[in-house]
Amino acid sequence: MKVTRPELSWWERTYFPAILKGMKLTFSHIFRKRVTLQYPEERWTLPPGYRGQPVLLTGLDGHEKCTSCKLCQFICPPEAIRIVAGETELAKEKFPAEFDIDMGLCIFCGYCQEVCPVEAIWLKDAYELADYDRTNLIFDKEKLLALGRKPPYLPGREKPLEEGR
Ligand code: SF4
Ligand code: SF4
Repeated sequence: MKVTRPELSWWERTYFPAILKGMKLTFSHIFRKRVTLQYPEERWTLPPGYRGQPVLLTGLDGHEKCTSCKLCQFICPPEAIRIVAGETELAKEKFPAEFDIDMGLCIFCGYCQEVCPVEAIWLKDAYELADYDRTNLIFDKEKLLALGRKPPYLPGREKPLEEGR
């Protein structure tokens, strides 16, 4: 295909019209409201329902809610969840002896939260997970539970436990 280029006048060939057009656009932005933030000193307000890092929740009795059904492990697209089931004397019969989430793989899709039958896993509004070592991004059960004990919990479904319980 042959491309026919427009014929430029001598004035256009000096590039001044394009430069002036660009400068006009740049200066027009100086007087507009800023859309950037001075992160991390300034933070943005997250929308309600923001899906960030997944955490594990405990019930009001202090026990971890997970029954180790592994639905979240099967549904997780990047296979970021690893669960090793154990048996317990509690009515739920099974519990996660090990429960890891590789935050370096997690894409915050929320499938694990959607599929969990007992609302044991939940995506909270945390997103600052960068680290220089990828192994530090593999969160074990204790860490996931500790992160999940803090409010906010699911609105109207569960109250936050007191710190340290
Ligand atoms: S949010 Fe998505 S990617 Fe992350 S652990 Fe849950 S299912 Fe896996
Ligand atoms: S977090 Fe929920 S879906 Fe995942 S293993 Fe535990 S009970 Fe099952």
